[in-house]
Amino acid sequence: MEEEEVWEQRPYTRVYATVDLDAVEDNVKAMKAGLSENTSVMAVVKADGYGHGAVPVAKAVEPYVAMYGTATLEEALDLQRHGITKPVLVLGVTHKRQYEQLVRQQIRPAVFSREQAKGLSETAVRLGTAVYVHLALDTGMSRIGMSPTEESADLVIAMSQMPGICLEGLFTHFARADERDKGPTFRQMDQYLGFVKMLEDRGIPIPVRHISNSAAIVDMREADFDMARAGISLYGMYASDQVERENVALRPAMELKSCIACMRDIGPGTPVSYGGAFVADKPMRVATIPVGYGDGYPRNLSGKGRVLIRGKSAPILGRICMDQMMVDVTGILNAREDDPVTLIGRDGSQEITVEELARLGGGFHYEIVCNLGKRIPRIYTRGGKAVGKKDHFSDWYEDFCHKPGTGGEKKEYNDHSRHE
Ligand SMILES: *Cc1c(COP(=O)(O)O)cnc(C)c1O
Repeated sequence: MEEEEVWEQRPYTRVYATVDLDAVEDNVKAMKAGLSENTSVMAVVKADGYGHGAVPVAKAVEPYVAMYGTATLEEALDLQRHGITKPVLVLGVTHKRQYEQLVRQQIRPAVFSREQAKGLSETAVRLGTAVYVHLALDTGMSRIGMSPTEESADLVIAMSQMPGICLEGLFTHFARADERDKGPTFRQMDQYLGFVKMLEDRGIPIPVRHISNSAAIVDMREADFDMARAGISLYGMYASDQVERENVALRPAMELKSCIACMRDIGPGTPVSYGGAFVADKPMRVATIPVGYGDGYPRNLSGKGRVLIRGKSAPILGRICMDQMMVDVTGILNAREDDPVTLIGRDGSQEITVEELARLGGGFHYEIVCNLGKRIPRIYTRGGKAVGKKDHFSDWYEDFCHKPGTGGEKKEYNDHSRHE
């Protein structure tokens, strides 16, 4: 099919993100090639796979990873519901009211207090099973985890003796591994190793020691241990511009595409968008792109960002609206309505990266992808061809569905199989 034809037949006509699953797979392979031989990978797919879609990403990397990491129990359950069978660790705090569900589903919790261990132990005993836990150690985030002290090590003895508790792992999280100066990171690692030693001295072996995040996977072989937790790198971004990119070749998986909704010519003195923050000083041609901050596109790129049209840069004019933005196509003489527009990704020799958006808008690249909203459908590709898609256009609300006979029934509500 000609490129033009593919564009004409695209399933979404306003805006969509493509996620290249080959890139995701290549990224995990590249990381594995760099890691020490006995270091496995945990794929961190929290926040719906950093906005890319947790399930398709999890499936794409399945042959290469030992475990998955999520932020919440719900995210872990969602992976299982979609057929993921490898272990899942909830990296955040799981509320005690969720222990039963967690234990039944054999999901791994992060544990760092006596109460947590006791509650999980009691739940496991009641259900006639065991729960594999990962101890969280606080070495510098002051976020979750026990302190690396002798008292904590004694507490771990007590935990390890609780019925139904299996200590599977011990992890901590780096606060500054993405900085060029690795001093603070090595100090965190020393605290971690000191605690491992305290546990060894007490006869408590830790099967899975894991400490690395994406930054350390790229920069620090010293931190490999038994498993490394890959988040942002899975999606093809580096943790920061201070890590050694040459060490591991990553390529971004996501592109964000839209089209020109309409165009107009304006004269000098004509304001563009809210507040008249931009006023033309010469005759201009303006294209309206149907994407805005309501889609999660950062509003702080108003007057700063750019999009690509026919391989050329079109600067954003004035304020980004909720659902639309205007760009300058004065210099792109052949631009037409319904032309493809690239907001993130490549067009010809030009590329707009998420990092560029973060830099221009004073934002953070992790946040930009996480925030791409429900109004942006995701299209998954392999070998450049669509292999799946996900959108929220016919979303489901418990207790708000139309009752039969009241008119305006929506069949999709009844068909929804997600809520068994
Ligand atoms: C989010 C997270 C990661 C992944 O971090 P990246 O910088 O995206 O690789 C690893 N470990 C923990 C505990 C996390 O919360």
